[in-house]
Amino acid sequence: MYLGNEIHSAAVYIETNRPIENFDRQLIEVFLSNISIGYENVTLFQQLKHAAYIDPLTKTPNRNEFIQILQDTRRYEAEHNVAVLIDIDHFSDVNDGLGQDVGNELLIAVTFRLIEEFGTYAQLGRIGADVFGLVGPDTELTPERLQAVFDEPFKASEHSLQISATFGFCHLTDTAEQGLTILKHVYIALNKAKKHLGQNFQYYQAEMEDEMAERLALLRMLRQDFANDKLQLWYQPQVSLTTKQVVGMEALLRWPQPNGQFISPAVFIPLAEYSGLIVEIGYWVMDQACLQIKQLQKQGYTGLRIAVNVSMPQFRSHGFVQSVIDCVTAQQIDPQLLELEITESVVMDEPKIVIDALQKLKNFGIKVAIDDFGIGFSSLNYLQQLPLDRIKVDRAFIRDIDKPAGEVIAETIINLGKRLNLATIAEGVETQAQEQVIVAMGCDEVQGFMYARPMPPAELLAFLQQQKS
Ligand code: C2E
Ligand code: MG
Ligand code: MG
Repeated sequence: MYLGNEIHSAAVYIETNRPIENFDRQLIEVFLSNISIGYENVTLFQQLKHAAYIDPLTKTPNRNEFIQILQDTRRYEAEHNVAVLIDIDHFSDVNDGLGQDVGNELLIAVTFRLIEEFGTYAQLGRIGADVFGLVGPDTELTPERLQAVFDEPFKASEHSLQISATFGFCHLTDTAEQGLTILKHVYIALNKAKKHLGQNFQYYQAEMEDEMAERLALLRMLRQDFANDKLQLWYQPQVSLTTKQVVGMEALLRWPQPNGQFISPAVFIPLAEYSGLIVEIGYWVMDQACLQIKQLQKQGYTGLRIAVNVSMPQFRSHGFVQSVIDCVTAQQIDPQLLELEITESVVMDEPKIVIDALQKLKNFGIKVAIDDFGIGFSSLNYLQQLPLDRIKVDRAFIRDIDKPAGEVIAETIINLGKRLNLATIAEGVETQAQEQVIVAMGCDEVQGFMYARPMPPAELLAFLQQQKS
């Protein structure tokens, strides 16, 4: 018997010992249309599955599917298999500079290259915008082999793009059983690799997760202590090399612990920066510093400036410029007595935002110093565009000043400052010998343990009193 319409047709073989009646025919049609709907549903389901598990651009497994692949591989053949995440460096530059279409073509070109290189024994997936995943034998998926994939440029429309990438690795025997947790572990390795200068890959190790948990616990404590007003702002005097007088101080955060010790700002400031907490802390610091200027004035110290460190998230936060101006206005202090310290990395991060903000603050009368000069990724071009008053020579160059290279760099920075009509201050001066050398170089001011360590406000007053007498 043959049944059919424009879309479906069916040849049905029925074994029966009686003739087929009209009624039988109707029953069979109902039966077949049920089957046909069943098939349509299967097709729809497959399309749905495709949409849910395949990345539409590269036609490779997406994040969800890759998580499943990780989990299955971990379960059935963890031994000698490794998971890899590949993050294309500065991908957004390609997108921003050459357009999204070129960006997409680049991603497709990378996909093809990875399949060509590893497709026969490893599984590939696209995990994020510019992040690919691979899982396969650890003898094949090595840092060297992955690195080699990026040796040659990639073709994307008419461009030939030379790109680099960062890799996170995780041996499947070193990780958990859950696919999502495995992915998390590879990401931990990837992020570690991104922060590491000089090596663009890392293998996941259990300690890495412990470090992360510790950092989170520390951050929770910091948030709590800040809310409970436990942070303190200390001050380190800055001294003029010509008059030997204290000319100002740098405000430095201190986080006291119940055991009487302090957690270093070098540890907790980066945490506060990652989490955005630095924005709130920064408001408080600015407030305290302006209050301190006012209080010093009341004690008769009218010309002492205070320098405050400012991080990138603060510049990004809405209303930062106005909040600084408000602080100064509220205390009715001379804006010239407030100085903002920014590091090179802050400037390079988002030059436009930073330069605009500093220009406005500078117009209001606030001073600007560039901190830790010479150790970041300096761009002399930005140095020219920044409304600067002072360069702070980083401690590293003062420390090495008795070595030939150290001396050359310190001297070069001080000369650069002079040529740009900027004041210079040397950080971290600890010995008479270091002082002698920088005096000879013509440096204007110093800040270092040799003169005074950072101290709480009450001690600062005593110190200033003692200097006067
Ligand atoms: P920084 O701004 O470069 O501050 C100077 C650092 O050098 C301070 O470390 C100071 O104690 C230290 N120092 C000064 N003289 C000497 C010396 O002669 N020898 C040695 N060995 N060290 C010296 P500190 O207080 O640990 O601060 C570390 C960093 O934390 C600061 O570096 C700054 O980047 C950041 N920081 C501190 N307070 C704040 C803040 O309120 N806001 C922000 N955003 N960052 C802050
Ligand atoms: Mg500083
Ligand atoms: Mg510094």
